[in-house]
Amino acid sequence: RRAQLGSQSCISERSAALFDYKSAFQNSVDQVRSEGRYRVFADLKRVRGQFPLARRRRADGTQQDVVVWCSNDYLGMGQHPAVVEAMKTAIDLSGAGAGGTRNISGTTRSAVDLEAELASWHQKEAALLFTSGYVANEATLSTLQKILPGLIIFSDALNHASMIAGIRNGGGERHIFRHNDLEHLEELLAAAPVNAPKLIAFESVYSMDGDIADLAGTIALAKKYGALTYLDEVHAVGLYGATGAGVAERDGVLDGIDIVECTLGKAIGVMGGYIAADAVIVDAVRSWASGFIFTTSLPPALTAGALASVRHLKAHPELREAHQERAATLKRRLTEAGIPVLPSVSHIVPVHVGNPVHCKLISDMLLEDFGIYVQPINYPTVPKGTERLRFTPSPDHDDAMIDKLVDAMDKLWSHCNVARRPAAA
Ligand code: PMP
Repeated sequence: RRAQLGSQSCISERSAALFDYKSAFQNSVDQVRSEGRYRVFADLKRVRGQFPLARRRRADGTQQDVVVWCSNDYLGMGQHPAVVEAMKTAIDLSGAGAGGTRNISGTTRSAVDLEAELASWHQKEAALLFTSGYVANEATLSTLQKILPGLIIFSDALNHASMIAGIRNGGGERHIFRHNDLEHLEELLAAAPVNAPKLIAFESVYSMDGDIADLAGTIALAKKYGALTYLDEVHAVGLYGATGAGVAERDGVLDGIDIVECTLGKAIGVMGGYIAADAVIVDAVRSWASGFIFTTSLPPALTAGALASVRHLKAHPELREAHQERAATLKRRLTEAGIPVLPSVSHIVPVHVGNPVHCKLISDMLLEDFGIYVQPINYPTVPKGTERLRFTPSPDHDDAMIDKLVDAMDKLWSHCNVARRPAAA
């Protein structure tokens, strides 16, 4: 029946007397559009070995070569020969899919090996893979309140949507502390019953401002008030610390973090997510989390690719140095040109525009006129009035690319008459 309908939509064939699904869906899209939040995908074809270059297909079908300046493949590992070859070999040896959930025939050898590698990277007893970082956060945080009845969660105000979803879905008591404000966190911890189970959920690198949490200070509070620490290192893993295990490694506080959560999709360059923690914590989450139990496990090619990537990242600190150098150079060059770079202490280079229309316009003109792809970041991802462009340089963004970007930004800043001095951050 569906095949006969061809491209005709199913919802449009219902009788007018019944509920009008089509309008309801359309209204919801129109609402997003009217709030200026309607998103248009950039259709990019990545070309192997040419990162950060990509070929963009326009709506009219024509092609354009672009430099990607907003990739979360921070080190280009998604194109690295060691990773790509490991994935190809895994397909040749094991085929395409995992064949089931972890509990029902889907526990592949490379998933087990990857979990062991990840656990040792973070100096934890065990690790557990999930479909994505989003799922790792949602599944773990929502399950912890089932495992620990009465658990009170203290969550940083700027935590990622996946952490918020997990904490909400857990359904237990939660308190939001002002972003990176340890005094506020302490006030909230002190007000909670002394013997209640508690968990502090926070991130190391916050990806919109590029600021970094005070891990040691948060751990000290957790110890004082008997709380567990849950740290999202999604924007730090692979990038910080002597072996790339994240900010906790850089700051020498790996053992103060009870549960670390990361993605395989950013600096590691593939896809998937994980937690690492004491074996008993991982065992409990593995046993209770629906988002882990009832879903097909990652295909062997992904886990083999991630394993190769992690091993490479551990052994190549010079990649991290080059990455930091590129970020520092871009910040300096933009600042010298009078472009208002927000004060970021990490590899993220946020540029303040402060107006959604200008932000979109500059992003569109960078793309069409200069072949520079950077996504505008507007409300509600960031507060109104702080709209920005967010650049993520990699070790593969060379001097010529930086020259071209700074020159284009300089021209567009004059063209659009956007303030050159940084707004108070
Ligand atoms: N945590 C943070 C802080 C993130 O920014 C993201 C993704 N943008 C995630 C978790 C989810 O990770 P993934 O993309 O692997 O689902």
